[in-house]
Amino acid sequence: MVLSMSDKPRHFATRTLHAGDQFSVADNAIFPAIVTASTFIKRSLDEDTEYAYSRVGNPTRHAYETCVAALEQGAGAVACASGVGATATVLELLPKDSHVVVMNGVYGGTFRLLEDYRSQTSGLTTTYVDLNDLEAVAAAIRPDTRLIWIETPTNPLLHLVDIKALCELARARGILTCVDNTFCSPWNQQPINLGVDLVMHSASKYIGGHSDLIGGVVVAANAELLTRLRKISMAVGAIQGPFDCYLALRGLKTLDVRMERQCANALRIARFLEGHPQVEQVWYPELDSHPQQALCKAQMRTGGAVVTMKIKGDRQAASRLVEALSIFVLADSLGGVESMINHSWSMSHNSLSPEQKGRIGVCESLLRLSVGIEDHRDLIADLDNALRLSA
Ligand SMILES: *Cc1c(COP(=O)(O)O)cnc(C)c1O
Repeated sequence: MVLSMSDKPRHFATRTLHAGDQFSVADNAIFPAIVTASTFIKRSLDEDTEYAYSRVGNPTRHAYETCVAALEQGAGAVACASGVGATATVLELLPKDSHVVVMNGVYGGTFRLLEDYRSQTSGLTTTYVDLNDLEAVAAAIRPDTRLIWIETPTNPLLHLVDIKALCELARARGILTCVDNTFCSPWNQQPINLGVDLVMHSASKYIGGHSDLIGGVVVAANAELLTRLRKISMAVGAIQGPFDCYLALRGLKTLDVRMERQCANALRIARFLEGHPQVEQVWYPELDSHPQQALCKAQMRTGGAVVTMKIKGDRQAASRLVEALSIFVLADSLGGVESMINHSWSMSHNSLSPEQKGRIGVCESLLRLSVGIEDHRDLIADLDNALRLSA
């Protein structure tokens, strides 16, 4: 039997399992091999082999890229050494001295790359705006604006951006759009279907899903952008190695079932926290209390697996809470099968000044939960107990 993508059922869960299978046809294996070869042998000067050198192309990486591209409904993907490596690869598309409009409160690593490096080395200029304010976006756009960098939902307060509306505005002006889709994974949100040109992921989060790899990936909506990205990836060389591509591809096999459980757990937890006397506020896009619940329903499958809460009390209360938890672990990352908690003030947003933190709503009693696949009853009991002890 010869397998090809077109023979296959197209539903998301099936694509997570089988997009990329065609790379294992040669040896009949059920999973693509980890091809560690740096180079591939030609039998003659005239032979045109599919792969020549692994920085340029590698079968394991190609299988993984094919799967991610199929999930995001793009023309193809480029796997990079990390999420920020993927962002850097996207920024190479821009001519020097370009202007970029960026979502307010964008991921700290994106901000650092833009402000500490690309502004000095490539002459990039940036304007940070709330991308939901389309008038503010239109006002920020200049003749040299080449890219709008979208992140939705944002970290840690889970503000959403109307991707479709923004893409219409950008396309009319010939400006590229890129969504950092890390918090959603392709399971929850497929920005290319909403009109975006590029999707970027930190595969270190939901795509890998097991907190055991660092990786990034960029998906291009069309063949022209894909060709340019492949050339950049070859020229810059920040590629994902075959072992990590294997781990990421293996992670994708269970993306559908992981996300279903994680997001269902997250909704239950968000509802529980909303009714808890020790909790002052809960942010979760699927809740009635979220101001963008309608947008969540329009562009996301669920509210996601991240829940943010402000507890009653101060930093000491937050400190008591994290120390009293026995299932949720205090960690910087998110998106793994195990539940994690993050103190934005001292961890993810530590490099911001207290004023900057205040402006984006990060306070010392704010905690971000990355909900895993454990039994929701145990997770809720863990939170309930720790919240009581935090008082
Ligand atoms: C983690 C993360 C990144 C950076 O990815 P790395 O794999 O750590 O380089 C970018 N964007 C978001 C939203 C992230 O959470």
